[in-house]
Amino acid sequence: MKFLLHPSLQAISRRLPRSRRVNLLFRLSALILLLSVLEAFYHSQVSLSIPRPAEHHNLDEPFSIGCQDVSKLVTRPRESAVLVMLARNSELNEARKTVENVEERFNKWFKYPVLFLNNEPWSEEFVRGMKEVVSGEVRFEVIPEGIWGPTAGLTEEVVGEYLRKQKEEGVYKGEIEGYHHMCRFYSGEFYNLDALKEYKYYWRLEPGVSYGCSLTYDPFVMMADRGKKYGYTVALWEEPNTCPSLFRTVDEFRTQNNIPMHPNWKAMIDEETNWLLKPAPIRWLLGKVLRREHYDIKGEKWNLCHYWSNFEIADLDFFRGEQYQKLFRHLDKTGGFYRERWGDAPIHSLAVHLLLEAKEMHHFSDVGYYHEPFWQCPQNAKGKQLLDNEMIGKAPKGMSEEQEGGHGCRCECGLGKKGDWRRRNNRGICLEKLQRPAAYVRPSWWDLRRRRWPYSVGFDEEGRYVM
Ligand code: GDP
Ligand code: MN
Repeated sequence: MKFLLHPSLQAISRRLPRSRRVNLLFRLSALILLLSVLEAFYHSQVSLSIPRPAEHHNLDEPFSIGCQDVSKLVTRPRESAVLVMLARNSELNEARKTVENVEERFNKWFKYPVLFLNNEPWSEEFVRGMKEVVSGEVRFEVIPEGIWGPTAGLTEEVVGEYLRKQKEEGVYKGEIEGYHHMCRFYSGEFYNLDALKEYKYYWRLEPGVSYGCSLTYDPFVMMADRGKKYGYTVALWEEPNTCPSLFRTVDEFRTQNNIPMHPNWKAMIDEETNWLLKPAPIRWLLGKVLRREHYDIKGEKWNLCHYWSNFEIADLDFFRGEQYQKLFRHLDKTGGFYRERWGDAPIHSLAVHLLLEAKEMHHFSDVGYYHEPFWQCPQNAKGKQLLDNEMIGKAPKGMSEEQEGGHGCRCECGLGKKGDWRRRNNRGICLEKLQRPAAYVRPSWWDLRRRRWPYSVGFDEEGRYVM
């Protein structure tokens, strides 16, 4: 201890009797501890706190409450938009299931083109099978040479070694090379495809998903009207071992480009867990010295929450714009798409929270969506199901009950698992965290304890949030 003290302090300490010295040491430690706790508290609860929107209202509301008279909406001008699905020839049946479902619930009225993408030539069977179910224009494109594949500069041996290691570590789909290609493709190269040049918005579809409600309005027109650039349904915690250094790498881009820590970015930071144990010196140790997983260099930790990108309705101009593309190149250069198994979902999510304002994002909370093994399914809006609307047609047999506070249109929940009527089988609390910057009405501490918060897919009759 002595050699840590300044010589003048050492002299004082020598002059003091032993009991006084112990006492001084004790007080000094207590003071340091108190200051640490205060600093850690200030940092987590004040510096990282997210202010309520200055507009004094929620910045994102459902686009529709219940069904709309679609016959009046289809005659309005459409946006320049496309439904797009990356698929393999072998996925014909699952792909057909998705497309039939989307046609039935939306596209038979609005007739947006459907574009299929593949890294290999399309089989005749796939083309024929799809032409049968798409009601409007359908296009089949093959991804051009050089776009689908590893990051420039990574040799096959290096990639092979990375995959082997990920298999050993049990990284989800970490050993599948094609999966890494797919994640990298959807993270960046996708947006620069010539086939997408003529469109402004895309809706991403995947084989084998289900849409449980009808969409009786044009989501692209609504996105344009309300200035929205990114639309999502489900948010989840990412598997930690797929992307240990992703947050650090995105934050590096943030600091290099002098992008401030605005509220939307702060929503990605975990300010709660163990805040007491994270005063400035410990953050420095975690971030800069130990370079802990999911920490940035300043010692902030990502909460791992991200939007599930297998559903997306978004603005192509944002993703092909200079800033996003620069971020993608920055990430790609590090080799992280192969060294680790960075998903396009966390990348899109971190990017939109870094580069967009909260009001430019939209939760499609009125969309019923199921992709194995998770779903969201809104409650049906009471008295707004337009059951005698000719163009919408007959109600589905399994239509869920109408409920006060619901905003779905003819939703048929329980698609994920027959008889499971929960509105969501993934914890909404992750969504709630990401939506804080847009939320003027926020759950109190007590609401959160009782799992009751606004901004969710539904409440039961007593106003309790239904998972
Ligand atoms: P998960 O949902 O993340 O488990 O991954 P999926 O297996 O659903 O893949 C995501 C999307 O990429 C789906 O649309 C797949 O059809 C597509 N995909 C994945 N790997 C390949 C591939 O090697 N070639 C092609 N053409 N599509 C792929
Ligand atoms: Mn999938």
